[in-house]
Amino acid sequence: MEVLRTVEELRGWSRSRRRAKDGGAQRIGLAPTMGALHAGHVSLIRAARAACTDVAVSIFVNPTQFGPHEDFARYPRSFEADCTLAEAEGVDVVFAPAVEEMYPAGAATFVEVEGLSDRLDGASRPGHFRGVATVVAKLFVAAEPDLAFFGQKDAAQVAVVKRMTADMRLATEIVVCPIVRDVDGLALSSRNAYLSGEERRQALTLNRAVRRVEELVAAGERRACALIAQAGAIFAAEPEVRLNYVVLVDWATLEPVEIAVAGTLFAVAAWVGSTRLIDNTILS
Ligand code: AMP
Repeated sequence: MEVLRTVEELRGWSRSRRRAKDGGAQRIGLAPTMGALHAGHVSLIRAARAACTDVAVSIFVNPTQFGPHEDFARYPRSFEADCTLAEAEGVDVVFAPAVEEMYPAGAATFVEVEGLSDRLDGASRPGHFRGVATVVAKLFVAAEPDLAFFGQKDAAQVAVVKRMTADMRLATEIVVCPIVRDVDGLALSSRNAYLSGEERRQALTLNRAVRRVEELVAAGERRACALIAQAGAIFAAEPEVRLNYVVLVDWATLEPVEIAVAGTLFAVAAWVGSTRLIDNTILS
């Protein structure tokens, strides 16, 4: 496994792999991450490994997607362990650029997905999705992947990245992988490392709300107001957990819907202590 630090090296790797075999059989896969890899990331890597001939994982804690008072400085970083894990999973390349490599001095170009960027997490984290769209666009331009792998866990991010990819006419296909959860249902997240024992228990409120809504939909409830009220009641029973949003939206536009249909996104975000967590389900 190679560790590459510059965009030029990543582009060189991708292009040389594409030339490596005749007949257009190469499929280059990219899984963008911020590191502190866990089983959720591993699921992306495995999906990439299964679908692609060549797999790159980027590890980059992207400063532009953090707000000024957010956790950029203390975000967990475990580069050595991440590389060990990536290598064991058969990753060909880890791309781990310095901030100045992705944002050269004077960088003034950003990608803004209008509308979508202000919804869900974008509403409480201004500039977050601008940072995400910008770094993903840069990674796609550098790696020229055929397939890029994202987790449903960050469902609004998926909507933003899909819109950006379609609008920019990029050739990369977005593959969405299911949410990987702990045995008790908590969605895996690098930020779970911030939780105390008691907060870890409180954090289950998000999944409880998600499961409640799944049950209600399975029982025939389709009205957004009823589903959101029931989810809200679950949060009300756990007052230490501060609800940020509970929504039922169209997964492509992130616009609220009144009636849930197959493919509607139910999503929640909440603060547990000072840690902001998210969870969701795609209704069937
Ligand atoms: P992050 O390192 O948190 O930016 O996440 C990198 C990628 O891994 C994103 O596409 C996430 O949606 C995905 N991911 C993170 N946690 C999970 C999870 N529990 N299950 C599936 N994918 C995940």
